[in-house]
Amino acid sequence: MDATTAPLLEVRACRQSYHKDSSADLLVLEDVNVTLLGGEIVGLLGRSGSGKSTLLRIVSGLLQPTAGEVRWRGTPITGPAPGVAMVFQSFALFPWLTVQQNVELGLEAQGVPRAEREKRGEAAIDLIGLGGFESAYPKELSGGMRQRVGLARALVVHPDLLLMDEPFSALDVLTAETLRTDLIDLWSEGKLPVSSILMVTHNIEEAVLMCDRILVFSTNPGRVESEIRVPFAHPRNRHDAAFRQMVDDIYALMTRRARPAVLPAVPAGDVTFATPLHPVSTNLLAGLLETLAAPPYDGRADLPALAGSLQLEADELLPLGEALQLLGLGVLEEGDLRLSERGREYAHADTDRRKAIFADALRAHVPLIAAIRRTLDERWNHRASAVRFREELEDHMSPGYAEDTLRTAISWGRYAELFEYDEEAQQFSLEEDHQTAD
Ligand code: ADP
Ligand code: MG
Repeated sequence: MDATTAPLLEVRACRQSYHKDSSADLLVLEDVNVTLLGGEIVGLLGRSGSGKSTLLRIVSGLLQPTAGEVRWRGTPITGPAPGVAMVFQSFALFPWLTVQQNVELGLEAQGVPRAEREKRGEAAIDLIGLGGFESAYPKELSGGMRQRVGLARALVVHPDLLLMDEPFSALDVLTAETLRTDLIDLWSEGKLPVSSILMVTHNIEEAVLMCDRILVFSTNPGRVESEIRVPFAHPRNRHDAAFRQMVDDIYALMTRRARPAVLPAVPAGDVTFATPLHPVSTNLLAGLLETLAAPPYDGRADLPALAGSLQLEADELLPLGEALQLLGLGVLEEGDLRLSERGREYAHADTDRRKAIFADALRAHVPLIAAIRRTLDERWNHRASAVRFREELEDHMSPGYAEDTLRTAISWGRYAELFEYDEEAQQFSLEEDHQTAD
């Protein structure tokens, strides 16, 4: 299929903010521009919370953007676009309908006569490899088969544009891979009754495996940061050197961008009170430091390889790497994560020594935690309410980020034994043996 020059869909200067109760609105998308041509598979790659689903809802016409415009074949649209069908991460099947009935739903809405509905329904079910399961109910099917039903339901209307929101992420690894390759095979053979596909993913390999073009999304607010063309012919080989190189490059791009996009662009050790902290567990951090210190990495790892050995995705590994960098225990550079001296020391230390290293890192690099501890040291009763810290954070960030930041500070500080926290009273206190006599 050749890309034609007249755009199928254009998103122009789209902006989306959500109203948040008392404080400022949450800006999710800012100045997003996307053009889709016929005959291409385009990926929207970004971390969770970057606004990918929001953009997909705008593209489908389900959500009217706060500002900007969506054009469908040159004409602005203000409601569901004709010729657009969507596949959801959660399958979204009706449990009381059979496979055939679920698939025919889209056609019913279009007023297609019964006989034709049946014929097209069967054809879509056959195409997607579910022949023989027409009268089964969703609960009788595996996750992979359910998602095939989701695909058949979208394909049955022969949409010009197929939208997919993380369609494989609820499936196990093998099932997801089978479905990806089946879909790409059908696409390459020209058997899919669609002109273009726009798919959202947070999985870099998936994007490189399937897409002709990848739009890398930044977070907070979401914007298209870069566009990458994937020149490889289908079927693609994940082990191919050029394929690996592209995955690595995109990792590097996303790690480089991760700091300015998510955290203020400050070097480790120069974090302000207003720096959001991501809810990252100390257990995971300890595991990551150990894995990094041990062979085959010996202190330095390529992020994709590391993600593979920890069975994590970019989405999950990056916040961990950022946390290590923030604490001076690791350094992110060009797609690699490297242990710092302190990080290496931590990995080889016993539990008490680890807590002490972590406590030092927190006091040195996380002003919020340092402030909580200082307040406790200064108070005669060594207690402090969490409320004032939450309020102070909310002056600098959205209530959601403030809450995450506070929760993270609490769990890190507790692990390092810098303070105790009473959930019920929402109060910090010092352990008995930390209290000085005066
Ligand atoms: P992604 O799909 O990339 O994970 P989303 O588009 O789902 O991102 O969400 C982006 C941000 O917008 C998140 O911070 C999310 O909490 C917020 N958000 C999404 N939908 C709504 C809504 N209806 N009201 C308020 N906030 C929302
Ligand atoms: Mg989403």
